[in-house]
Amino acid sequence: MKTVTVDKNNLEGAAVCLRNGGLVVFPTETVYGLGADASNPQAVENIYKAKGRPSDNPLIVHIANFDDVYKLAREIPDFAAELMERYWPGPLTLIFKKQPHVIDRVTAGLDTVAVRYPSNPIANELIRRSGVFVAAPSANLSGSPSPTVYRHVKADLDGRVDYIVNGEGCEIGLESTVVDASGDFPVILRPGAITLEMLSKVHPGACMDPALLDSDKVEKPKCPGMKYIHYSPKADVIVVCGEKQNRTEYISSQLKANSNAGVMTFCGGEYPDAKCTLSAGNTMQEYGHILFYNLREFDGHGVDTVYAEFEIQDGMGDAVKNRLYKSAGFNIVNV
Ligand code: AMP
Ligand code: MG
Repeated sequence: MKTVTVDKNNLEGAAVCLRNGGLVVFPTETVYGLGADASNPQAVENIYKAKGRPSDNPLIVHIANFDDVYKLAREIPDFAAELMERYWPGPLTLIFKKQPHVIDRVTAGLDTVAVRYPSNPIANELIRRSGVFVAAPSANLSGSPSPTVYRHVKADLDGRVDYIVNGEGCEIGLESTVVDASGDFPVILRPGAITLEMLSKVHPGACMDPALLDSDKVEKPKCPGMKYIHYSPKADVIVVCGEKQNRTEYISSQLKANSNAGVMTFCGGEYPDAKCTLSAGNTMQEYGHILFYNLREFDGHGVDTVYAEFEIQDGMGDAVKNRLYKSAGFNIVNV
């Protein structure tokens, strides 16, 4: 398949392609999405093929008009309506009881549907012009980190999709917060830029899915590389948690024994023995913005191990921790 790249000023071909059942990659404020007409089972099936994953994992349906949520959701509780008012368009996905016409291939047979109204203007324009709702997971090959720049999309999906819309880099860099709004209070199933603290202002009962908390506690899974590997670069990732000085000392000592390792620094730092050093900034927001980008860049440098400095802070800390720990297969060293 020949993949055509277009920019934000030439969306018509990509919009028509979506309407006709094709696959279109587009930028959003979170990460790039791999989209297809959410009402077309074959088109949705092709998303899974292009990503190379046999999947029973449901997809998020993207809309570009507030009121379209009523065409997909059967019941919208008050707290969800308020969340939509505050945070849509934006990096918040809400799960509702679905309307009967929403197809099984999108919901993986569940009675619920995940809906998001992205804020990225290119995504909005594309969805509106296509005239369809757009089912879209992240635009990466299965297992690898989500792409946040055009170059990384192209590396994974050139020749596997009809169009790639080249937008700027993605503002946030991590996928949306997924919130179950099908019950009496909001439950975070996947942390993101819309935090628990923000949800708690709308509903005091807001909480994290207990499964999420449990899996965070698993530091050394019995079966590393099996259950938890996601967002993974080719290199092994080792998360090094603790105070700055301890992190520096630990990583420096490890580098003496490995000349083919990279380091992702947090809040600065120098590692003369590292093959390459990439910064994750000074805040959780900056870390989230650059995490997936850096993981892919380390592979470009050919390192076999990445030491990733980490120290959780408020704000997007839960989201960064969730993705970073998964990318490391929960290989974490506390120093
Ligand atoms: P992605 O499309 O890769 O950003 O991932 C979408 C996320 O939303 C996945 O973690 C899905 O498991 C989750 N998701 C989508 N639809 C539902 C649903 N109906 N119920 C629960 N989780 C969902
Ligand atoms: Mg994904």
